[in-house]
Amino acid sequence: MPSYVEPAKCDGCKGGDKTACMYICPNDLMVLNVETMLAYNQEPDACWECYSCVKICPQGAIFVRGYDDFVPMGGQVHPMRSSDSIMWTVKFRNGNLKRFKFPIRTTAEGAANAYGAEKGANLDDECLLLEADLPTPK
Ligand code: SF4
Ligand code: SF4
Repeated sequence: MPSYVEPAKCDGCKGGDKTACMYICPNDLMVLNVETMLAYNQEPDACWECYSCVKICPQGAIFVRGYDDFVPMGGQVHPMRSSDSIMWTVKFRNGNLKRFKFPIRTTAEGAANAYGAEKGANLDDECLLLEADLPTPK
């Protein structure tokens, strides 16, 4: 089920050139209506519910309608990020709430180097990255 924006909470990222949700969506689905200064998911059918926009929205204005088998009838799962953790709030259909807090990566934006020392490795090699370093099975 796709993400949707709660209009009462969205502030259009205070009129920036590119809103946080537009920046983060891997499928370029989020757009800002510059007249209302409200963002919306322009193609819900193409949303794969990755939750990236939900997590990055500074106003907590984006939600995902869960699939009925996972979040049945009126339930809700919502993440809220801070600088060092993420809190998932699970709302059950009987109104009960459960919260789970986890630490998150604190690498500065743009500083992650996933390939480390392997950057520039021979891409024509048939081995997977780091495969040559694995112990030989006995
Ligand atoms: S990130 Fe949130 S507050 Fe910013 S435009 Fe998108 S929905 Fe609105
Ligand atoms: S849930 Fe993911 S794919 Fe869907 S609009 Fe948000 S960022 Fe894009």
